[in-house]
Amino acid sequence: MPKGAVYLVGAGPGNPGLITVRAKELIESCDTLIYDSLVHPAVLALQKVGCEQIFVGKKSGCHSVPQSEIQTLLVAKAKEGKRVVRLKGGDPFIFGRGSEEALYLHREGIDFEIVPGITAAIGAGAFSGTPLTQRNSSSTLVIVTGHEDPEKPEASVDWANIPRTNSTLCVYMGVSRLDSIVGSLLEAGFKDSTPVACVEWATLGCQRVCRGVLGTICGDAKQFRLSSPAVIIIGENAGMGDEISWFESRPLQGRRFVVTRSQGQASELSEKLELLGAEVIGLPLISITKNVDEQTRDDIFAELASYDWVVFSSPNGVRYFFEAFFEKFEDIRSLGFIRIAAVGKSTAKEIKKFYVTTDLIPDEANAESLADALVATDSLDSAKVLLVTGNLGRDILLKKLEEARAIVDRFEVYQTQPTDLSSDPAAKVFREQGADAILFTSSSGVKSFVDQAKDLVLGADAIRPKTVSIGPITSASMEQFGMPRNFQAKEASLDSLVDEIVRNFGKDSK
Ligand code: SAH
Repeated sequence: MPKGAVYLVGAGPGNPGLITVRAKELIESCDTLIYDSLVHPAVLALQKVGCEQIFVGKKSGCHSVPQSEIQTLLVAKAKEGKRVVRLKGGDPFIFGRGSEEALYLHREGIDFEIVPGITAAIGAGAFSGTPLTQRNSSSTLVIVTGHEDPEKPEASVDWANIPRTNSTLCVYMGVSRLDSIVGSLLEAGFKDSTPVACVEWATLGCQRVCRGVLGTICGDAKQFRLSSPAVIIIGENAGMGDEISWFESRPLQGRRFVVTRSQGQASELSEKLELLGAEVIGLPLISITKNVDEQTRDDIFAELASYDWVVFSSPNGVRYFFEAFFEKFEDIRSLGFIRIAAVGKSTAKEIKKFYVTTDLIPDEANAESLADALVATDSLDSAKVLLVTGNLGRDILLKKLEEARAIVDRFEVYQTQPTDLSSDPAAKVFREQGADAILFTSSSGVKSFVDQAKDLVLGADAIRPKTVSIGPITSASMEQFGMPRNFQAKEASLDSLVDEIVRNFGKDSK
C-alpha cells in the first residue's frame, strides 16, 4: 500500500462479516481511518495498534462534519504521507458522496482507489428474503433516495415515472418521509395491494422487518415504530419473505449481547452467537501484549528437556509461549517428550495450531479443575512443571501443584492491561443502546468490567441488561463484586453457555 494515498472503502450494510477481503486488508494496514456513523465497531476493531481513528459522522443531536471539511481532511492526511482509509457504510458510490470525494482527490492530485461494498438494499434483500430481481416478477431494480430536501439543489426524484410493473423499488433514507413517498407512488398508479417490506438495521442481529402493502404501510410502520436506518422495498417480491426469510427465523435474531474480550482478539463466543442470529457487542476491556523476560526465557529453554509437564492456562499463553519458543528453536521437535496440559478446549485448540497434541484437559475449564486433574495423574511428586501464564495468572494453580510436591517454574509470557473505553466504538454502542444480557466467561472478565464501570454507564434509553455466567467460579467473582446474576450455564463450557442463552433469550422463550 503506497504512502500518501486515500482508499474510499465501502464497509457493507453493517454486519461485519459482509465487508470485502480488500476492505479488510486496507483497514488492517492503514495509518488513518476516517469513518461514518453506520460502520460496525467490529469492523473498526480490525485496525492495527496505533492507527489514528477520526469519526466524521453524526454525533447524537449534532450535525456531521461538513463535506468540505472531510475532503480537506482526506487531502491533508494524504499529504502527511498517511495511508488513509475513508470508510463509508454500504457502497461509496450509492448515496455515499464517494464521487464528490473522488473528484476532489483527483483535482488535488492525490492517489486513490475505490473499494465497492455491499449496499444496504442488497443486504436488506438477502437478509429479509426479498429477491430484488426474479425471472417472473421483477426485471427492473430501482434504487432511489427518499430524502429530498427542498432547500438543497439536488436532482429530484421523478416518482411519476418509476416503473410500476415487474419491478422492485428500494427506497433509501425514506423513513421520515414515508407518507409522502407512498402518496406519490399511489398517485403515479402503483396498486394499493403492492407488497412492501421495510427492513430496519438490515443484516444486523437487531434487524426488524415491517411487512405490509402500499395502501396500509404508513399506519403499519407507525405502529411498528419503524426508525432509521431502513430500506423500504416495494414490489411483488417484497411479499416473498414468509417463505424465504431465513435470517429472522434464527433463534437469537433481534437479541443483543455483550461479551468481554481482549483488544485485537476475536471471540469464539461471538461467532457462535452471531451464527444464531444475535447481535454481539465485543467490549475490548483489556489489551494483552507479549511480555517475556529474555533471561528467564533463555534459562527455561536451556533446561526444557528436564521438565515433565508444561501447563497452559490460556490461549494467549500458548500463543506467546510458542512465539518465544520459535525465537530460540527452529524445529518443534526441540520440545522433546514433555507432557502438555491445557485448562480448556480453546487453549488446546491453540496448541493444536502448532501440530502439538494436548495430553490433559480437565472436564471444567478453570484453574482448580486443571490442578485436580494434574494431581489425579499421580505424576507430580518431584516432577518439574512449567506453568505458562500472564501477569494476572491465579496463584491457586501454582499452590495446588506445589502441595502435590511438584517443582513449579512460572513462565510469564504476557501482560494484561485495561484499555481506554471512553472513546471505544463498541463501548459507545453499549452506553447508548444497552443489551439484552452481558455474558461473563471468566473471573478476570468480571473484574475488568467492574474496573471499567465508569466508562460503561448506560444512557437513559438503553436496554438494561441481564447477566449470564459461564460457571460457578465466574459466578463467585460476580457475587464478590456485588454484581447480580440472572443465569448460569449448566456446565462451564461455551456450548453450555450458548444453550443457556438460547433457553432464556431465544425466540421460543419470548
Ligand atoms: N452508502 C450507503 C447508503 C448511505 S445513505 C449504502 O450503500 O448502503 C443512508 C441510508 O442507507 C439509510 O437512510 C438507509 O436507508 C440505508 N441504510 C444504510 N445501512 C442500512 C442498514 N443496515 N439497514 C437498512 N438501511 C440501511
